[in-house]
Amino acid sequence: MTSPATAYTARWVWCGPGDLRSGAAVLLENGWITEVAHHPPRGVAVTDLGKGLLLPGLVNAHTHLELSGLAGMMPPQGDFVGWLESMVSLRPAQLRQNGPESTAAAVDYLAQDGTALVGDVTNTGKAAPVLTQAGVSAVSFYEALGAAKAEPPPAQAVWQGAVLMAAAVAAHAPYSIPTYRLAALKAKAGALPFAIHLAESRAEVQFVAGVGDEGKRLEEFLILRGLRREDLRLAADTPLGQLMAAQALDQNTLLVHGIQLTSGEVAQVAAAGASLCVCPRSNLGLTGAMAPVEELLAAGVNLALGTDSLASTPDLSLWAEMAALVAAKPDLAPEAVLTMATQGGAKALGQAGKFGTLRPGAAAPLAFVPLADLAEGEVVEAVARGEHAAKPVSVGRFDSAERKEQGR
Ligand SMILES: [Zn+2]
Repeated sequence: MTSPATAYTARWVWCGPGDLRSGAAVLLENGWITEVAHHPPRGVAVTDLGKGLLLPGLVNAHTHLELSGLAGMMPPQGDFVGWLESMVSLRPAQLRQNGPESTAAAVDYLAQDGTALVGDVTNTGKAAPVLTQAGVSAVSFYEALGAAKAEPPPAQAVWQGAVLMAAAVAAHAPYSIPTYRLAALKAKAGALPFAIHLAESRAEVQFVAGVGDEGKRLEEFLILRGLRREDLRLAADTPLGQLMAAQALDQNTLLVHGIQLTSGEVAQVAAAGASLCVCPRSNLGLTGAMAPVEELLAAGVNLALGTDSLASTPDLSLWAEMAALVAAKPDLAPEAVLTMATQGGAKALGQAGKFGTLRPGAAAPLAFVPLADLAEGEVVEAVARGEHAAKPVSVGRFDSAERKEQGR
């Protein structure tokens, strides 16, 4: 049994970069977009969302849902290594006390907030079924750490109706994984995205180069966790160099943060065709800086946007991340910011055409942002700046009840 097609219309419809329409109709059938038309076809149920912008469901390309129990417990204070220390001391008790409840609440937030797809870093895999149940698609990145800890399962992409549940491979960071294991993990990732935190802090850059007080402090932290610098068999003196030495930088690589990338490295990332995810509020909070977004865009690097975990950002709103990015980089084109939160994230997670766009063959949910009376030229900028008239919502989410109805 299939559910009948439904059409959604709104005052404004943003199908993707350079494609803002006035009053189009988006048809959904069983969780898939089947048509984007000027007017709804006859005989189809129509929901007019009214004054505001209808756009693709957002793609949160980097978060850690299983850390949701740490919300508000360790607000970032510009000290990256100090934050890592808090994390390892607070995490075990939090996971025991309220792990499942806080993860479920975080998933519910994403499901309501207009998020269609999430790149979720995990050590347990526990958020994946909760996401699927709620109709939020996910690439679950199983994160390896150290010389042998947390070996990820094989990478695979499975669809349940129009809901993606993919398992992919992540390596924690160049400063916590030996070169030979980075190479093995990248090989294991296959054609699915391979994620790694990279060049997040000055401490990381100094540690890999073997210089500086902050590098020394990170080294002492790692020794206490059982990881010696010599165990890493470093093959380069920069984090990106490490990745390249391990043959782990290509078009399926998703770099997360990249705050400390130099101009020369931006060119190397562009040449490799890799994607990079910026987490504005987490990056600013933990390190007081952000990746060179303008330079990366100018070099043609595909950029995505993420919230990071509730241990370093106040909520899981990608709308708020867009606003924080615009506030920090006022010269960015608003449409480039919206593209990062949609199409850029979809590409970074290996899902171009399936998410982040309003085109036939892409999956729901869509997102709707209520807006004040605006001229056409003001619409995209208002959304990027977070100037909403009311809370954004998910539209046409294909949740477990509908899938059951459909007999899947
Ligand atoms: Zn992270």
